[in-house]
Amino acid sequence: MFDYKSAFERSIEQVRVEGRYRVFADLKRVRGRFPRAVRRREDGTEQDVVVWCSNDYLGMGQHPVVTEAMQAEIEAAGAGAGGTRNISGTTRSAVDLEAELADWHQKEAALLFTSGYVANEATLATLQKILPGLIIFSDALNHASMIAGIRHGGCERHVFRHNDLEHLEGLLAAAPAGAPKLIAFESVYSMDGDIADLKGTIALAHKYGAMTYLDEVHAVGLYGPRGAGVAERDGVLDQIDIIECTLGKAIGVMGGYIAADAVIVDAIRSWASGFIFTTSLPPALTAGALASVRHLKAHPELRDRHQERARTLKARFAAAGIPVMPSESHIVPVFVGDPVHAKMISDMLLDEHGIYVQPINYPTVPKGTERLRFTPSPDHDDGMMDELVRAMDKLWTHCNVARRPAAA
Ligand SMILES: *Cc1c(COP(=O)(O)O)cnc(C)c1O
Repeated sequence: MFDYKSAFERSIEQVRVEGRYRVFADLKRVRGRFPRAVRRREDGTEQDVVVWCSNDYLGMGQHPVVTEAMQAEIEAAGAGAGGTRNISGTTRSAVDLEAELADWHQKEAALLFTSGYVANEATLATLQKILPGLIIFSDALNHASMIAGIRHGGCERHVFRHNDLEHLEGLLAAAPAGAPKLIAFESVYSMDGDIADLKGTIALAHKYGAMTYLDEVHAVGLYGPRGAGVAERDGVLDQIDIIECTLGKAIGVMGGYIAADAVIVDAIRSWASGFIFTTSLPPALTAGALASVRHLKAHPELRDRHQERARTLKARFAAAGIPVMPSESHIVPVFVGDPVHAKMISDMLLDEHGIYVQPINYPTVPKGTERLRFTPSPDHDDGMMDELVRAMDKLWTHCNVARRPAAA
């Protein structure tokens, strides 16, 4: 008979051999102390750590405005939503949140999903049902959830080289003029920290009659005067057809959504299996996200401080000869180049210095470009940066990893 157990064991062994077996850090977040947390080691003992790789970019996951709104909503409405959107699960705070999100992105409507992953997967697959013959043009570095949605629908698809508008134009020009087309891309690419050329992409979309689908997961809350993302910063909110985001990163809670014209949202709402056949988000969660979005809209100084922290960390790494990769955004990636050293440095930072940064390995990034990815928040103070730079400097020497001459 088939030996199931050894098949599972072999699959894990393969991951181990490639040096990318994942070990999760067990963290107790402590409200009011972000970015500090308490790690539980494998032997059960505890260690205070500073988290340097959280996607809670602004610490909103612990902001009193958010936690108080969630507590109040639990008191008022209880735990769960009690059903799918269609069958009793359309709660008041979900409806209010969708209106708030639509306003944020200056769109007619918004639609919630249980996560950003589901929003991408469900929307991109469903667009192919609504638009038979759709051809999707997808940036080579798009997130796994976008790729999953694009593949799921089975339509014709073309992958263009990352942020390469000449390549994209060549592919668009080669497609039949009258066919429905969609360009799927992200604004901030979170592993390299670069930002797409929104205006250039929109110009191509207009020229070739394509729709645009923009993932602003790593930009929402962080860019633009009201924090609606790079499309707001660049003044092109009205020219992106569908904007997709998460409630789980800068907004600090959980969930995902799209914002678009009412007719698009109505069609996705009516056809997307991943929206229809699942229990809606708990009311406390949507109430927390609502409070967070309202706060983010009104507090640009959080974004200024966030950008300043990222600039400062990049400059300090560069001055110490640490190979910080070029990044136009709040992401601070440091090049290591192999999974063994990336893991070794990350383990030593954690065990010896109480600094937690997860190594980023294949398949999240290409092999040979393994890195550490730092995400300083407004709450990472100068003292924490001093400790981080000192520890990195020491480990870079200790592990004999390539340095880069100090930048001017
Ligand atoms: C994290 C992420 C998502 C998924 O969002 P979740 O809400 O975490 O499921 C989608 N797109 C990109 C680019 C992401 O980094």
